[in-house]
Amino acid sequence: MTIKLYNTMTRKLEEFKPLVDGKMGFYTCGPTVYWDAHIGNMRTIVNSDIIKRVFIENGYDVTHVMNFTDVGHLTSDADSGDDKMEKGAARENMSVWDVAQKYINNFLHDSDLLNIIRPTHTPRATDHIAEQIAQVQKLEEMGYTYEIPGDGIYYDTSKFAAYGALGGQNLSELRGGARIDDTGKRNSTDFALWKYSPTDTKRQMEWDSPWGVGFPGWHIECSAMSMKYLGQHFDLHVGGQEHAKVHHSNEIAQSEPIVGAPWVTYWVHFEWLLLKDGKMSKSAGTAYTVRSLVERGYDPMAYRFLLLQSHYRQPLEFSFESLDAAANGYKNIVRKIADLINSDNMGDLDSAVYDAWHDKILAPASDNFKTAESLVVIQELLKDTTVNPATKIALFEFVDRLLGLQFIDRAKKLIALEQVAAPAEIVELAKRRADAKAAKDWAMADALRAEIDAAGWTVLDGKDGYKIVKKA
Ligand code: AMP
Ligand code: ZN
Repeated sequence: MTIKLYNTMTRKLEEFKPLVDGKMGFYTCGPTVYWDAHIGNMRTIVNSDIIKRVFIENGYDVTHVMNFTDVGHLTSDADSGDDKMEKGAARENMSVWDVAQKYINNFLHDSDLLNIIRPTHTPRATDHIAEQIAQVQKLEEMGYTYEIPGDGIYYDTSKFAAYGALGGQNLSELRGGARIDDTGKRNSTDFALWKYSPTDTKRQMEWDSPWGVGFPGWHIECSAMSMKYLGQHFDLHVGGQEHAKVHHSNEIAQSEPIVGAPWVTYWVHFEWLLLKDGKMSKSAGTAYTVRSLVERGYDPMAYRFLLLQSHYRQPLEFSFESLDAAANGYKNIVRKIADLINSDNMGDLDSAVYDAWHDKILAPASDNFKTAESLVVIQELLKDTTVNPATKIALFEFVDRLLGLQFIDRAKKLIALEQVAAPAEIVELAKRRADAKAAKDWAMADALRAEIDAAGWTVLDGKDGYKIVKKA
């Protein structure tokens, strides 16, 4: 079906048209791996995963690239301050390289907990220094750069007429008023392409370049790596909402002189996860990780379910009360699916019914990724007594592919738990009943079933053997 998305560049809801029929290439600005990603960062990753799944379920062959920023992201947006990676290394008394590896591993672990489909490529900035230098050289040849002696090579944003279009900014407003005299920048919006290593301290990460030993600016990695893995032009670029005004505007300014406009067809930006009092903060201990939710006893799917109940273009306020409510809502659905799986009146898959509900669930997700509306349809499906269990289960297999909520998996785990929880004497009766059945002693099998029933348990026969479940 048609996919619609809100394009930050045009500020319109647009119908998606791929550059190449049947294919979709997209790039997500990934984490800076100097510290753990908090659940806010992971909201952005879940949103990106939903986009991917919607395209896949609509039949697209998706190539997804997400970078790991492991160099060059400074603590100040004005291209000054410390490198976040070097700071992380000092904090943990580890090498910068070890810090990067540690937080890449942690990030992937948390992504797996949230059932994020791994990107096709996850390039690291430090593995693509040559590509970044090549792009800076090209921009230099084209006259877009200047040097701030002792500091680095900068991009002159006044040379790029369309600068700021993505952020909807008025350039004179943007540049007026900002103090630039002590930075050496020509315009306040200018940004570093290559930074020289400091002369007073030794950096752990630095490289030779045509301009001197140093390291790339933060923005150039995304231009270089997206083009390397997706081609010079690609369909979609996504990231947190704060990127529209600076990081993505800079990426466009770097890329379009090299490849021509438009570099990317669609831009999608995700709103943040907030706390009641504002941002999540590491120092206040509120930068919760997915692992910390698990330690508190939450299923990561409860958090994913909470996220999918909101729209990506709306800020979402996180609280443990709302997570509790989501956890309950999620468990209720899992319970119902477990009952469907346990049903002894399964029926046959009805493909006409399946198709109708499939489209009803996919339609809102394909309309600017309205997952909350798909979840409403799912509740209607569960309530609809005219749809047989076999068809509902098949639909939930589709829902799991589309929304990644692992309903069927959790339902099976619940069933397994309940089975294990059956007392030994019931397990013994069930075993004797199975033996009786194997010996075709039907009278004995029936009598044992009745005994099990009377004790409040049910034996369900399925193709993979029998299950013992507590009677509702
Ligand atoms: P960072 O590691 O700070 O570069 O952030 C990684 C990604 O997470 C970026 O795309 C940010 O826009 C996004 N992000 C940061 N904070 C939040 C938040 N509170 N909620 C949602 N996304 C966030
Ligand atoms: Zn980026």
